[in-house]
Amino acid sequence: MAQLVETVGSKGVVKRTEFVRIITRALHSLGYEEIGTLLENQSGIPLQSQEISSFKNQVLAGNWDQSVETLHAISLLDKSTLTSQASFLIWEQQFLEFLRDDHILDSLNTLRKKIAPLDINSNRVQELASCTISPPEDLNIESRPEILEKLHNFLPPSLMIHPTRLESIIEEAISLRRLSCLYHNISDRNVSLYSDHKCGMSRLPCQAKQILSMHVDEVWFLQFSHNGKYLASSSKDESAIIWEVTDGGEVLFGHILGHEKPVLTVSWSPDDDQLLTCGEGEVIKRWEANSGRLLHVYERTDFGFISCAWCPVGFILAGTTDQSIILLDLEGAELDSWKDYALRMSEMAITNDGTRILSIYEDSSIAVIDREKKKILRLLPQEGVITSFSLSNDNKVLLVNLLNRGIHFWSLLEGYEGLISRYEGRISTRFIIRSCLGGLEETFIASGSEDSRVFIWHRGQRIPIMQLQSIHTGTVNCVSWNPTNIHMLASASDDHKIVIWGPPS
Ligand SMILES: [Zn+2]
Repeated sequence: MAQLVETVGSKGVVKRTEFVRIITRALHSLGYEEIGTLLENQSGIPLQSQEISSFKNQVLAGNWDQSVETLHAISLLDKSTLTSQASFLIWEQQFLEFLRDDHILDSLNTLRKKIAPLDINSNRVQELASCTISPPEDLNIESRPEILEKLHNFLPPSLMIHPTRLESIIEEAISLRRLSCLYHNISDRNVSLYSDHKCGMSRLPCQAKQILSMHVDEVWFLQFSHNGKYLASSSKDESAIIWEVTDGGEVLFGHILGHEKPVLTVSWSPDDDQLLTCGEGEVIKRWEANSGRLLHVYERTDFGFISCAWCPVGFILAGTTDQSIILLDLEGAELDSWKDYALRMSEMAITNDGTRILSIYEDSSIAVIDREKKKILRLLPQEGVITSFSLSNDNKVLLVNLLNRGIHFWSLLEGYEGLISRYEGRISTRFIIRSCLGGLEETFIASGSEDSRVFIWHRGQRIPIMQLQSIHTGTVNCVSWNPTNIHMLASASDDHKIVIWGPPS
């Protein structure tokens, strides 16, 4: 028989022995035992040593004393810490099985003569001792295969290959391909192994699917509900509209919500059953989403409202024309309030846990405010005048829109706060242009622009990967990416229109 080369693959880095053993391991794990054994015989490359085979069989059969003896005999093993820990796991299983079978004396013997002398994990030893005095109703004993799985952690992988090693290698390869896929916007479940993965531009919402023309003046703001079943828009025409998103991906008119002044913003309740709308310097109104019924009007005689946000822990945050931040319960009772003339009350957000408020401080910093202490915790200075910002769904990152300077992407993770990247291309010289995160795992950033276009960036790229044009004829003020339909994007413009974008047909 010809001498086989020691490596496989074109780069000479994959060792034949390792490759065959991993395939053999996968065949056994998948239940193809006979084929696995046949491969071992034909290749002359055994999956594991005789000692390891014995050890595994002993564990599965519950021959605990023998398994520990074998464990000590296995070569290349770190005899000190790892052997003690593995022995602890084995004796612990023996103890629990004795206890389960009402062999209390045997379990005590295991505890005193085998577990305690290892002199490790004293807290767990105490727990086990208390079990012998008053055994818990549910011992929650793991199966022997589960114990064997845990024992993998104490043995070198070259001796005992993990059962899912091949799958792990392939999953890592998929993750790496995905990182280099600029337009990646499909679930990994849909990625095939048959060829090198690459998404085309058609994975992104780049074609106008619907043009919604119900508003009769500039559309300033829009937001999909958390469940993606509604879209709410607000306009200079003194109204907001709730749109319904069908299962087929069509957006239908739902209800028109009236105000006396232009409507600046909207905010969905955490369960998406209700919506807040804020008239400019006017009132905040709370509506039932599926009926469009007005539920409550939040009104003050001495000032008006200019922003609103629904806090997930059950209250409403509002910015007012007299430079105050106020907290209201759902019935309108004031829970708290404070003034700060340096904050821009028209732009505010609150974190999901309700503890932090974000706002713009003196035009060029983002202020992170402790809500209970009413104190600015941190200022995130920007390189220019901030027009708006948006917080990611997980509150870990922030998109900051700057006048004439693009979009800045900030990490808000404690200890890692800082500017991560900048995105260029869109035009924002005079107006409030909003951006959003979206797509698969919020990998993309979309933004409006004063030149009637919608821009899309990949998080890792400074330059836009897509520009959507020829549909809007005025400044695109706001965009919103459907959180549950990653292929649906909406844009709102001064041209009175809302455009729903989707992948090309
Ligand atoms: Zn892809």
